[in-house]
Amino acid sequence: MGKVKVVRCSDAGLDCSFVGRSESEEELLNQVAKHAKEAHGMEINDELIQKVRSIMHEEEHVS
Ligand SMILES: [Zn+2]
Repeated sequence: MGKVKVVRCSDAGLDCSFVGRSESEEELLNQVAKHAKEAHGMEINDELIQKVRSIMHEEEHVS
């Protein structure tokens, strides 16, 4: 039911199987930012946030 927002690390060109899912854009950005920092040592800045927003998309909720 409904849609969920999805971000895949591989969509950012990274060789990584991480997939972030949330109904909340803010929550999803937090998830991805945390992952990017912990797994890839990336700094969280406006450029990264813009990149994440650009690859964020909606999918049907899988129950
Ligand atoms: Zn990753």
